Amino acid sequence: MNPRLAHFTTLRLGGECRELVTAAGAEDVAAILRHWTAQGVAWRVMGGGSNVLVADEGIPEAVVRMVAEAAECRMDDGLVCASAGTALDDLARFAAEGGWEGVGFSTGIPGTVGGGIVGNAGAFGAALGDRMERIELLTPTGERRVLGRGELTFGYRCSSLQAGRSVVLQAWFLVKQGDRGRLMADREDILALRREKHPDWRVLPTAGSFFKNLSPEVPGGRRRAAGYFLEQAGAKTMREGGARVFEKHANIVIAESGATARDVARLTTRMAAAVQAQFGFALEPEVRCWGEANSPT
Ligand SMILES: Cc1cc2nc3c(=O)[nH]c(=O)nc-3n(C[C@H](O)[C@H](O)[C@H](O)COP(=O)(O)OP(=O)(O)OC[C@H]3O[C@@H](n4cnc5c(N)ncnc54)[C@H](O)[C@@H]3O)c2cc1C
Repeated sequence: MNPRLAHFTTLRLGGECRELVTAAGAEDVAAILRHWTAQGVAWRVMGGGSNVLVADEGIPEAVVRMVAEAAECRMDDGLVCASAGTALDDLARFAAEGGWEGVGFSTGIPGTVGGGIVGNAGAFGAALGDRMERIELLTPTGERRVLGRGELTFGYRCSSLQAGRSVVLQAWFLVKQGDRGRLMADREDILALRREKHPDWRVLPTAGSFFKNLSPEVPGGRRRAAGYFLEQAGAKTMREGGARVFEKHANIVIAESGATARDVARLTTRMAAAVQAQFGFALEPEVRCWGEANSPT
């Protein structure tokens, strides 16, 4: 039997993939991808699985899962360097404990540095792309390359990496010396805020905010929260099968026991349709859908 991706996503949904390999380091990733490419096997890369909705029918590709068992962070010439598989929260903790300021916004965000770079994860108005100095990639032809910040583009929850087939191996972030005590206190505040506002994904299966926030009304203004429009459109009480909207946040979907990816797709389609009907604009999913059967919009 092939591995079920439900075991590796925070929504705890998703059918089988062709093969799944959890890779410990860059050389292991390079070797398995070379092997699959030589065999003509199509593949995908996964980090913490916290931003993907995988179809119940599964996917035909093989999956390499890049998750480090413990933080793989170090200081390198004044930059914080972390492996792609390092948890975003471990990156934030490493920096705060060392008294380094600049990546504290990633405190408590589930997922990995690799997934975070590719999707330009962020919070509190900051994002990884703003702090990234350089990254090491594995190119589609199996070559290891280092790219500087000028060679990549980042936007709101997106990056130029999403269009290619490169795999992030490690990343270096700009930091400056800060006050360790204050950074650790800020960290506790962020964790407390997240506990209050977000579901604990270890207990309630979720992928966090399902839709992207909207562009500011005026250039340079603040993004408008998709959750506000969803709440106005009545999303908070919506449910489809085992998928429901989180009672504290209209942009977050919870997959209860027995839920399917199709339930999530039906629910998020309804949510987006309600906003479209009331406000006349289309919401764009932030969560990436793997597999054909359950495209949400
Ligand atoms: C409760 C909760 C709260 C959240 N809060 C936030 C938040 O505040 N801010 C925010 O931005 N996000 C948030 N998220 C979403 C999610 O945690 C982030 O998007 C995170 O960066 C995804 O990382 P991941 O490793 O889980 O990626 P995955 O879900 O595994 O993958 C996402 C995409 O990245 C690609 N990818 C993963 N690793 C690599 C790699 N090494 N190289 C190339 N491509 C790769 C995958 O192919 C996929 O397309 C939240 C999620 C949850 C569940």
